[in-house]
Amino acid sequence: MNTSNEPLGDPAHDRRPPQDRTVIGLVAATAAGSAAARRLADAWPDRTRRYDEGPVRTAVARAFEDCDQLVCFLATGATVRLLAPLLRGKAADPGVVCVDEAGRFAVALLGGHGGGANDLAAEVAELLGDGCTPVVTTATDAVGIPGLDSLGWPVEGAVAAVTRAVLDGAPVALRADATWPLPALPPHVGVRGVAADVRLHVTDRRLPLAAREAVLRPPSLVVGVGASRGVGVDEVLGLVSDALDEAGLSPGSVAALATVDAKAGEPGLLAAAERLGVPLRTFPAAGLAAVDVPTPSAAPLAAVGTPSVAEAAALTAAGPGAELLVRKRKSAPADRPAMATCAVARRRPRGRLAVVGLGPGARDLLTPRARTELRRASVVVGLDQYVAQIRDLLRPGTRVLESGLGAEEERARTAVAEARAGHAVALVGSGDAGVYAMAAPALAEAGPDGGSGGSGGADPCGADIDVVGVPGVTAALAAAALLGAPLGHDHVSVSLSDLHTPWEVIERRVRAAAESDLVVTFYNPRSRARTRQLPEALALLAKHRGPATPVGVVRSASRPEEHVLLTTLAELDPETVDMMTVVTVGNSATREIAGRMVTPRGYRWQT
Ligand code: SAH
Repeated sequence: MNTSNEPLGDPAHDRRPPQDRTVIGLVAATAAGSAAARRLADAWPDRTRRYDEGPVRTAVARAFEDCDQLVCFLATGATVRLLAPLLRGKAADPGVVCVDEAGRFAVALLGGHGGGANDLAAEVAELLGDGCTPVVTTATDAVGIPGLDSLGWPVEGAVAAVTRAVLDGAPVALRADATWPLPALPPHVGVRGVAADVRLHVTDRRLPLAAREAVLRPPSLVVGVGASRGVGVDEVLGLVSDALDEAGLSPGSVAALATVDAKAGEPGLLAAAERLGVPLRTFPAAGLAAVDVPTPSAAPLAAVGTPSVAEAAALTAAGPGAELLVRKRKSAPADRPAMATCAVARRRPRGRLAVVGLGPGARDLLTPRARTELRRASVVVGLDQYVAQIRDLLRPGTRVLESGLGAEEERARTAVAEARAGHAVALVGSGDAGVYAMAAPALAEAGPDGGSGGSGGADPCGADIDVVGVPGVTAALAAAALLGAPLGHDHVSVSLSDLHTPWEVIERRVRAAAESDLVVTFYNPRSRARTRQLPEALALLAKHRGPATPVGVVRSASRPEEHVLLTTLAELDPETVDMMTVVTVGNSATREIAGRMVTPRGYRWQT
């Protein structure tokens, strides 16, 4: 339960991969299958349960009943026959992965999106290793389009028909009440498809749906609830359901229940939240008392210290810009006094700004999290050469706003403006996006309104976008790994670019690094026009360390033109250095060992 008074995070963002809370049943019938099942059970002791006793038919049936996901070490044919009589429906069935006898394939057989089988197949394949390949056949994954049921939002109506049209490239009209940070949808899905009879709605309002229409429910509503001690769960749920019904709102869009701290342990409220599948968020009475509400009253003031619980909690949980859609109303049990109140507020949608480091260049040094953020974005902002590095990873329909060198502030402004407009934006930069790069100007631009949405923490005084940072492998680290272990003891990075920093400041820092015997990595060491700085900086270091001090020069780390040179302070030729290079200068203990640059940890050299 969340008891702080931060505005709501988007549940889609907070969504954990299903594996964090699910139980995986492992069904095996053969010796090889059991061996593979044991490997999974050993690796995931808390997530797995083994079913390899008795006839396989009963084992599958029991696992299907008990577990959220199944891994069957059986042929797909056998698994299909065993599952067929058990199937209930897409929303209720567990995700099922099949692994063949030789462990070559992990096939997502059932519940690819909703049941998490696609992700599980990937995980199982990775764990079994030795060339085990995950097999995913859901169409949306194959063509890079987000499945309507993979967004973590409830979806209703003709999901299959709309998905089919999206996949086939047929025009689909998109009718959204507001801009939500959804992943990119292909260009034939949008306002231009207004005439289409296939429609995708994004709304919290109840709608009559025609045969070829589906509706995605954004997490836009917060229901504030007040309760007397001992209130029953059915009274709370009945009240909430009536309030939503009468206002024409869908329960699928309810993102949270909210109340006052004093009711945090009220069983009827906790049970109601659980049945709705949302968190119960609670707030201090003093904070709620300060909220301007239409229907204050004396009773809660006397009981819990605020004149409003339901309205004030709904508005507070819904965050800045919230709108009260349903005023406080009471439950109306036939036979006794009302014990519950509720009110409904609508959140202003919050865009998402992900600041994503792409690593030094090689695709396998791009982190999986960075890849996920790129595919979650509908807008990508960055320097043209960095965008080129990852363009193939973007979903079709992603809007790419690229610019040339130098336009940093403009890029930062654009990224923040797009996020403020409600979009899911990825601002990309090479290496780590926070190191001599875009994160700092972007966060300055986002200002006090930028929350930190990733961890659920956010600025309580007005977060209007979620900001998420994805770390990347910075050039100093990519270079260090190529050189050996030059950063084994204390080290600093210094940019020699005096474009934004006066040379006197840079000099002072280099001198301090020299005096403190720190290993130094120079970024932006030398350009065609800026040739003076590197020799001057090296001369400052040479006052405090010997001419034989190892120096590593790495150009285009992890790119096809990669070049690594290990030399010394005395012998370094500045001509070998350009803007694609970092230069790492050892400290007084750094040694060359078997062609590698090594800085021992501590100054007692191991003999
Ligand atoms: N954000 C980037 C740094 C941007 S400053 C990062 O974290 O790596 C640009 C400087 O980084 C270049 O002048 C060069 O010194 C260094 N650099 C970036 N990528 C590099 C690479 N692949 N190999 C060597 N140096 C690199």
